[in-house]
Amino acid sequence: MEENKDKLNLDFMPSFMTALDAASTLIDLKNIELKLPMLKTSVKVSPITTLEDLTIKSYQGSSQQYLKEVDKLIYKHTEFIDEKMKPLDFEEFLERLAPEDKQTLLYGVLRVSFPVLDKRSMKCKHCEEEIIFETKLDEMLQSDSFKEEWDKQEEVYRWRKTIEVIKDKLTIKIKYLMEADILRLYNDKGNSAIAKLLESTGKPYSQTELTAASISFLSINDGTKDIVLDTPDDIYNFYTKAPIQLQKQITNALNDVEVGEYNPVFYTNIHCPACNESEKNRFEIDDISKELLFQIYQIL
Ligand SMILES: [Zn+2]
Repeated sequence: MEENKDKLNLDFMPSFMTALDAASTLIDLKNIELKLPMLKTSVKVSPITTLEDLTIKSYQGSSQQYLKEVDKLIYKHTEFIDEKMKPLDFEEFLERLAPEDKQTLLYGVLRVSFPVLDKRSMKCKHCEEEIIFETKLDEMLQSDSFKEEWDKQEEVYRWRKTIEVIKDKLTIKIKYLMEADILRLYNDKGNSAIAKLLESTGKPYSQTELTAASISFLSINDGTKDIVLDTPDDIYNFYTKAPIQLQKQITNALNDVEVGEYNPVFYTNIHCPACNESEKNRFEIDDISKELLFQIYQIL
């Protein structure tokens, strides 16, 4: 009986499915495990394998939609190993995703999906010969790619630091910006406004917006009472309209806060066949991801 049933199923299996089964054995894609420097937890990342993953329909290098599509892609291909991190819905994931962890995850997804980058060239800094080189993504992760891990007692997304900007008069609490905060910085901004900011500052938001977003709580005393602001809108409106001398004092206080070097550094050592010297070539994951995802977009 059993044998018969199996045979029946096999007969009914459409031939495209048999072909897909065979196709998956032709490519060597596997999951990898990575440790996130900010959440300090291990994750498994899986490769982009099918068209349904590729929802990035337009190449808008810095638009909010592009960022969110990349976030969705990362979310879909990340599996937390630690039970405490499950289940995390997409919004919770964004609230806990620090930029450094995002880079790490994006690197992981790209590495398991696209093992090799297109050939590149650079001029050797020693002999000025043109070097043409090919880079495998797994070579970019070096033993010193991660300098530090988040070392504060509170989890990075819950961390707050109280700063007394003016003694007994003005106190703020600052936070570490998560992906959800960054996405909020894009809200209500058209693509042309973003393009303008990109041109002048290299970032899709102004330093003022960034500073205001880093403040999660503000308390000011006018001599008789404490006035407390604890919503992003209130803080933003206060900060942007505050006297410039006060803004300066707040930025100075923020600049004094020491944070570690958490950003991962991806690089390879390029060997020059002409003079036999080697030099470091750094890769920006954001650029690599645009390059690779754009290629897919062109194919589709
Ligand atoms: Zn050389």
